[in-house]
Amino acid sequence: MTTVSYIIAPPAIPALPVAGSDALFPVRRVYCIGRNYAAHAIEMGHDPDREPPFFFQKNPNNLDASGVFPYPSRSSDVHHEIELAVALKSGGRDISPSNALDHVFGYAVALDMTRRDRQAEAKKAGRPWDIAKAFEHSAPIGPIQSAETVGHPSEGLIRLKVNGEQRQSGNLNQMIWKIPEMIAHLSDYFKLAAGDVILTGTPSGVGPVQQGDTLEASIDGLPPLTVSVI
Ligand code: MN
Repeated sequence: MTTVSYIIAPPAIPALPVAGSDALFPVRRVYCIGRNYAAHAIEMGHDPDREPPFFFQKNPNNLDASGVFPYPSRSSDVHHEIELAVALKSGGRDISPSNALDHVFGYAVALDMTRRDRQAEAKKAGRPWDIAKAFEHSAPIGPIQSAETVGHPSEGLIRLKVNGEQRQSGNLNQMIWKIPEMIAHLSDYFKLAAGDVILTGTPSGVGPVQQGDTLEASIDGLPPLTVSVI
């Protein structure tokens, strides 16, 4: 048996808190679905018809459970998007929707923070979204609640307040692509695995944040997430 040695110190494995446990959830990849609530697709200028889902990625270490969001550089229009996060305990390829939920460890409240000005430029130029989406601290997230505790939520309020004022409100049952369908679709293109996290899209009402704002994100049945913009 040989011991692996690294030429530089290996980077830390990003890991998230789990409600009711001292053990952390290690993160492998982060997938995000776009325009998955009709009202949000409309507010972004798109047809809410059931076009095939599309995905982008954030980096695993963009997930941040600290409760603090440092306003990013090179943007003056950073938006909040509240989303239900799905954390996988197993995966595979060509998963069928009928057993997709067997791969879910649990769920959390998350924010897909977005440099909207940079995203608009990228869209116009036909360029990738990475600098708009996959930047440092761009995915604040609350503790993961195990499916054993919360079940597999398919309906329930999802809402975001900024400084006590409601900005986003919707219901999980308004998702165009449901969680089992999202897992199945992703597994047609990628090999999913334990540690993967999927952000499932945002309801309408996205808008800008400012330094000093307090964001309160909640989804029925899950630990709430409070984030300070600094
Ligand atoms: Mn989003």
